[in-house]
Amino acid sequence: MRSSWRLRKYMLKGVLLLALSGCSEPAVESLPTAGLAEVPYQPDSGNIMIQCGALIDGRGGEMFRNVSVLIEAGHFTRIGSGIEPPAGIEVLDLTAYTCLPGLIEMHAHMLESFEELVDLTMYYDYSHEDFMQAGRQYSRLSVDAGFTSVRNLGNYYAWVDRDLRDEINRGAVVGPRLQISGYYLTIPGGGGDLLEPGGSEAAIPARLRQGVSRSVEEFRQHAQAVVDGGADVVKVIASGAVLAYGGVPGDPEMTFEEIAAVVEVAHAAGLKVAAHAHGAQSIKDSIRAGADSIEHATYIDAEGIALAIENDTVLIMDIGAGDWMIEQGRKQGWVEEFLRKTIETTQVQRESFRRAHAAGAPLAFGTDVAIFPHGMNGIQFAYMVEWGMTPMEAIQSATSVAARYLGWDDRVGAIAPGLLGDLVAVKGNPLEDTSILEDVQAVVKGGLVFKLPNGQPATAVAE
Ligand SMILES: [Zn+2]
Repeated sequence: MRSSWRLRKYMLKGVLLLALSGCSEPAVESLPTAGLAEVPYQPDSGNIMIQCGALIDGRGGEMFRNVSVLIEAGHFTRIGSGIEPPAGIEVLDLTAYTCLPGLIEMHAHMLESFEELVDLTMYYDYSHEDFMQAGRQYSRLSVDAGFTSVRNLGNYYAWVDRDLRDEINRGAVVGPRLQISGYYLTIPGGGGDLLEPGGSEAAIPARLRQGVSRSVEEFRQHAQAVVDGGADVVKVIASGAVLAYGGVPGDPEMTFEEIAAVVEVAHAAGLKVAAHAHGAQSIKDSIRAGADSIEHATYIDAEGIALAIENDTVLIMDIGAGDWMIEQGRKQGWVEEFLRKTIETTQVQRESFRRAHAAGAPLAFGTDVAIFPHGMNGIQFAYMVEWGMTPMEAIQSATSVAARYLGWDDRVGAIAPGLLGDLVAVKGNPLEDTSILEDVQAVVKGGLVFKLPNGQPATAVAE
């Protein structure tokens, strides 16, 4: 159990209030609820006043000094200096820190881990509960790292991400706001399939292949099932993948017509389509077919960049993971083919990122986390700056820009009145050193405190 400094503070405050008011109510009755949220909790119900030493609002404004942020009923209500805290509200002192909006991860796999890259066929035996337990753990790590909104772009076992999302939304587990995709839409043996070259399709449990499609019509049907099942976004594997058996990242796997069929179904339901596309042709096919984001975009050419700009198709380029993967993959004995393809794509993707950024293409923060440890998402900020972004651009790519392409800019992505009270704090100035963002000290989500500046996570994972 944590012996909370906050509790002592409240008791002190209570005594003081009693002394001033002469009130005879027991002190404990008038105290605010404890600072750290514990499961189960009521999501987005927090009331708190946060005093920030500095504040970056996520929308590109200057860095403000000594700002108070008021969150009521889970939403930002006032931001400024000289705000009087409403009676009875708890105050979180972050005057030694820089506050930012809760960070947004546009490309994650919340049920899976790099540890499985030694042999993906281990998934054949994983149960629903195995994946759920992993997902709960990774969700906690995501929140502790400051990523309070996450787009989960696929899992092999169909719909486990939906169950995780719903647990988080009930307050039964600590985790980010999740957009989920249900399962991958992919060709047989494609980047979203677990089929090894020469392997038997019959050996793979059907629950792991719900989105494997053989024709335009099958893609259409499976996309409709993704929509009907309650997904928030639809994921297609348009080109070969790095971390899949037998795929060539630069080569198309889905046809233009197949991608277009999925887009038609998704857009009719108001959902966006995220297209995994490394190769130049698949990138252009996906944009022309109406996909809303291009994931990886490794071999994007000048025409592809121009198309992305023209169509406002956001590029999610996971340029942060490669060095870690190459080093660890060797040590851990990952599948040799995966390691080879990681080496082949790492630098070329960074060069592409630099060209895309210089040309003015829309770019948002996404790391493909799972291919490196959950909670390490923040390492990508420094790479984005190294390859051309300003620190403020990198921060916005994970706040207001990401929120816009999620379709959630009316909820998250900035510290602004009316938005959900998601806020993180770091020690120092991330505009001078973006690596500070790898070490988030405090996390508030929906006005509830999940991490405090002593480095301790708030609660254990709910079972
Ligand atoms: Zn991915």
